[in-house]
Amino acid sequence: MNAPAQRVIEKFNPATGEKSADYHISTPEEVQAAVARARDAFPAWSALSIEERLTRLQSIRDLCSKDGEEIAKRISRDTGKPYSEALMHEVISVPMFIDHYTKIAPKVLGRQKQRTPILFPGKSSYITYFPMGVVAVISPWNFPFRLSMAPVISALIAGNTVVLKPSEVTPETGEVIRELFERANLGVGVVEVCQGDGSTGAALTDADVDKIFFTGSVSTGRKVMAAAAKKPIPVELELGGKDAHIILADADLDRAASATAWAGLMNCGQMCTSAERIIVEESVYDAFLPKLEEAVRRVRVGTPDEHADMGPLAFPPQLKTIEMHVADAIEKGARIIVGGKRIDREGQWFEPTLITDITTDMEIWREETFGPVIPVIKARDADHAIELCNDHQYGLSGAIWTEDRKRGLDLACRMECGQVMVNDAIQITGNPALPFGGVKNSGIGRYHGEEGLLTFSHTRAVMVDHGIFRLEPFWFPYRNKYPGFTKAFKALLSGNIPKAFFEITKLRRMSK
Ligand code: NDP
Repeated sequence: MNAPAQRVIEKFNPATGEKSADYHISTPEEVQAAVARARDAFPAWSALSIEERLTRLQSIRDLCSKDGEEIAKRISRDTGKPYSEALMHEVISVPMFIDHYTKIAPKVLGRQKQRTPILFPGKSSYITYFPMGVVAVISPWNFPFRLSMAPVISALIAGNTVVLKPSEVTPETGEVIRELFERANLGVGVVEVCQGDGSTGAALTDADVDKIFFTGSVSTGRKVMAAAAKKPIPVELELGGKDAHIILADADLDRAASATAWAGLMNCGQMCTSAERIIVEESVYDAFLPKLEEAVRRVRVGTPDEHADMGPLAFPPQLKTIEMHVADAIEKGARIIVGGKRIDREGQWFEPTLITDITTDMEIWREETFGPVIPVIKARDADHAIELCNDHQYGLSGAIWTEDRKRGLDLACRMECGQVMVNDAIQITGNPALPFGGVKNSGIGRYHGEEGLLTFSHTRAVMVDHGIFRLEPFWFPYRNKYPGFTKAFKALLSGNIPKAFFEITKLRRMSK
């Protein structure tokens, strides 16, 4: 009997439409073997001290630093994004994470002493952390390097081994990551990369893993969570977004316009944190719009080699979604100010687009567009703007623009999302010290910052008795102790600590 034909990912260059290469799709058996290698590697990797793990990961930092430009070019070829974005938003994130975690990880993951209540005299309390085991990381195609490497590195520092399933849309970046870890020589099974499609991802979530970290769409996120629920194991979901950017009447309109154009069109709008809902206070709407229009018109479209501001779309089916959202908006009364259609050249291109007169029943308002389209809506005032922001299925991030920074901070705290910038856009995601994640349909869990290590750790509570007292007040027998318990209870709750201590001491003497 013939062996079954090997399935491959056929990769096409998004900027030219030309076929570039085939990549092997891992079979379920290969996924299981990779998980088994990761499990075998776990005892040795987790036994290393945090400092030793960080030292070994310096080799990844060194490789990113030495070969950063070459890595960025390969990511650009895979996705079509400008070299500048590949270098400064993807590659640089890895050294930044490693540097930040080198500073904080030993403290964050170290033993934490806690308070012990008076009820338990003679004891000390601690929180300690330990790794979960084998972590499955499943990543998307829009930031294929960063959104794979950040969770992989965080999981490794916390002492886990990892099996990564990159997106089939960006397999070349998957190869870059595999090569990086091979060259870093961390040991067989410490990081395994299984290239493949959705079936490979499903095989990984069904395999013997201890945690799933997933970044992608809501619909796949639901399947991943269902797979995790069968075992059950912990799951983190970093899902879609429809970020609101609120421009208030007293904003610096020039700065807000430049930022909004960048936040809506960067990475060709294929960002979970894209500016996808621009909410402008009515009184400055007419002043702001021409500034935004000018900023959008300035954006140069082209290939990475042309050093353009915006490249093609990375994922062919995305073109249809964008066209559908634009058509639906126009049908319901929206107006195209700039762009609005495909660009007629080989590959997957769409014009930088500014669209106004948006209403909340339009798909372009309700659903993630994930393309270079900036929809604008009017708000009566700040309260109405916050209402428009929060009345939505997504809650990933957002921005608010006002020259009154205190008011900006107060209003930011009313926006229902995981991260907000006041007078800036998106850059918050580049700060490795701040937690990242969404609310509502944007996901469950946080990474980056301290949370990024704790999310890959189990928490263990430890209480140590110092042997000062031989007997314990709460042990048997209970007979005759109840009046003492009621006195201790009342003293404790009224804050009379000496009396509570006295009663507990008496009760201890009654234990045998
Ligand atoms: P998908 O949900 O389509 O895919 C994400 C990953 O899951 C891919 O590796 C995919 O493989 C894999 N996958 C597909 N089916 C399954 C399955 N049944 N079980 C396990 N894994 C599976 O998302 P996209 O790649 O299209 O990414 C775009 C989405 O990601 C957008 O919604 C975007 O907002 C969101 N995103 C969220 C971010 C966040 O941090 N919150 C950041 C970036 C993006 P394959 O691609 O090979 O099919």
